[in-house]
Amino acid sequence: MRLSRYFLPVLKENPAEAQIVSHRYMLRAGMIKQAAAGIYSWLPLGFKVLRKLENIIHEEQIRAGHIPIQMPILQSAELWRESGRYDDYGEEMLRMKDRHGRDMLYTPTAEELVTDIFRAHVNSYRELPLTLYQIQWKFRDEIRPRFGVMRGREFLMKDGYNFDLTKEDALHAYNRHLVSYLRTYERMGLQAIPMRADSGPIGGDDTHEFLVLAETGESEVFYDSAITDLRFGNRDIDYDDRAACAAVLEEFTSRYARTDETHVEAEFHAQVPEARRRQARGIEVGQIFYFGTKYSEPMGATVVNEKGERVPVHMGSHGIGVSRLVGAIIEASHDDRGIIWPEGVTPFHCGIVNLKQGDAAADAACESLYGALTAIGLEPLYDDRDERAGAKFATMDLIGLPWRITVGPRGLRSGVVELTSRRTGESEALRPEEAVERVARIYGKAAD
Ligand code: ATP
Ligand code: MG
Repeated sequence: MRLSRYFLPVLKENPAEAQIVSHRYMLRAGMIKQAAAGIYSWLPLGFKVLRKLENIIHEEQIRAGHIPIQMPILQSAELWRESGRYDDYGEEMLRMKDRHGRDMLYTPTAEELVTDIFRAHVNSYRELPLTLYQIQWKFRDEIRPRFGVMRGREFLMKDGYNFDLTKEDALHAYNRHLVSYLRTYERMGLQAIPMRADSGPIGGDDTHEFLVLAETGESEVFYDSAITDLRFGNRDIDYDDRAACAAVLEEFTSRYARTDETHVEAEFHAQVPEARRRQARGIEVGQIFYFGTKYSEPMGATVVNEKGERVPVHMGSHGIGVSRLVGAIIEASHDDRGIIWPEGVTPFHCGIVNLKQGDAAADAACESLYGALTAIGLEPLYDDRDERAGAKFATMDLIGLPWRITVGPRGLRSGVVELTSRRTGESEALRPEEAVERVARIYGKAAD
């Protein structure tokens, strides 16, 4: 993309309404624009990041054997009356009537709808296990929407639902989700710690929340610092291997890690040596639940088992806060000049800054870098505007592309351009082909 033809409405001033750094940078980098309280338009740069997160989530869900679907945003109240949640859900549910006076609602979650799909089409235990998921906008009429996309009213969520014959099978689905979530967050450059949680309005026995540590987090968390050394890494887990999935759960959840809702000071002290006790703040970026037959029983989602008996299925639901993650990643990765995107989610792979637009040699070198990077399947953002170098650097630093290639007439006279890491600030003078090769290697592409 050439910046002169892009739509990147950066703000020079700090917006007064933004209290936390991610909100400030998302507004300043032209990623979002508020449409109403807690409701945002996603501008090109923000939308690109959102799409990258969605892609990672799809890849990891499909790898785990889960099947994507899409359910509607507006739902009829009927199903919610069946489960009993229409009255229980409270003020956070946005309710409305259609022209015929029928009660409708904007989906805050989708257990009822997916259970209705299941009961209409699945009859036998032989069709199990089954996990359906979607990435869809949700609405919760939060009393105090704040911090930009972190606590919105409309927000994007991945929500997945497993259907299993037995509790053991459903607990395997739970473990499988935990493993897939660990992989997902790490690909986004995040450490998200599973913490034992409270089930809230969804209800259930087993539940973990995934928290990213950050000073601006809304949750108070208590944990054993040894947990922060754990990495899932590049393990090749067979998702059908129950023992392997259970072992990962054991490894990542056996140390003390809880939010204030489940924290017990005496247990904390008994389980964690003093030097490793930590109290901090965290951002909830996901949650997994096992809730058994809570919905299948009242809604009649049953299958015929091996003995020919009709039994309610065991279910769980599993959510990732996709739009909140954009803010969480920025909270975890920025400096005082702007965002620093992890390579896995960056909106553009690298920036190209032309120090002297209009200089024949500099223009030609930039065009050739742009072409070479594009040809190997990378997306560079070429700042081809007629602007001062300082302004170009400031924009690149603000929008946080992890790598920048700087091209100027002086360097070109000695045959080099400069490759700079946004994270470390370190620069290296390289021949243009070397710079392309280096960037290609960083992103696992082959330069030819
Ligand atoms: P919270 O405790 O933060 O209100 P929740 O526990 O009610 O969230 P879940 O039902 O677990 O939310 O939804 C799954 C994920 O969706 C959460 O882990 C969170 O990342 C995200 N999420 C929930 N509410 C919001 C919101 N108002 N704005 C943005 N993301 C949200
Ligand atoms: Mg939650």
